Amino acid sequence: MNYRVLLAGLAVSLALGGCATKPANDASLKSGYAAEEPRHKPLKANDPVEMEPKKWLVADLETRDQEDAGGPHNLAGRTLEVASLKDIRLADKEVILTFDDGPAPGKTDRILATLDRFGVKAAFMMVGEMAQAHPATAREVLAHGDAIGSHTFRHPDLDKMTFDAAMAEIARGKDAVTKAIGTDVPFFRFPYLADSKRLRTAIAARDMVVMDVDIDSKDYFTSTPASVVDRTMKQLHQRGHGIVLMHDIHQRTVRMLPVLLSRLEKEGYKVVTLKYRHTPAPATNLVAQADTKMVR
Ligand SMILES: [Zn+2]
Repeated sequence: MNYRVLLAGLAVSLALGGCATKPANDASLKSGYAAEEPRHKPLKANDPVEMEPKKWLVADLETRDQEDAGGPHNLAGRTLEVASLKDIRLADKEVILTFDDGPAPGKTDRILATLDRFGVKAAFMMVGEMAQAHPATAREVLAHGDAIGSHTFRHPDLDKMTFDAAMAEIARGKDAVTKAIGTDVPFFRFPYLADSKRLRTAIAARDMVVMDVDIDSKDYFTSTPASVVDRTMKQLHQRGHGIVLMHDIHQRTVRMLPVLLSRLEKEGYKVVTLKYRHTPAPATNLVAQADTKMVR
């Protein structure tokens, strides 16, 4: 009996059980998101074992990928410096690429290589315990010049926690990623996009920028890499621009990325590089306030 077949079958059933379930309390839809994320169990450092794509899938993608082979690329767009969510304004045909749930050795690094090949940058929203388990890969992302954010420590549904517990999870995740890469991480994304007004306000007050999602690639579904590309492009055609959600923990994402990038390039899209801009030091305001108090 082919044990790889068994393993693949197991992976399919696990993936279907874990990823295709809609949130019971769909806060993401409440807040206007069209997107959802998989409700996977908290990631463990050595997870996930993923099924290898079937040969015909790989062949399909490789054929399409060949169209873009080599040559100088013209996909890199402008650099957008942001200090808050409201600064993330995209023009028509502009996209920001984001990858959640890593870093995952063997996948994140291959995604970085593809981004390099096309001369573009992305934003990586790291899960604290993943960054803690794989600090070398996390630092590779930093060295590559991508934007980095946190995505809580254990990837829980914050909408189902008390406010204090949710804030503690967010802080713990941010600390773990900060420690892994050795520098502060200003961006944040809600697991399952399950946010709340109160949490968003509290996060903004801590000088963190929430990364929303405009286009969900749904790369966590057990679909073919080619269909992930088609789904993403279809949404982009409807919106014209946007922040694209992907996950650097899936093999199919690694495989579909070159195809997605060549499609974007061919259709005249530009990948925007995201940079955090520190706002003027609040110390200035504090001093001013202190002075006022003294005068009084
Ligand atoms: Zn996630």
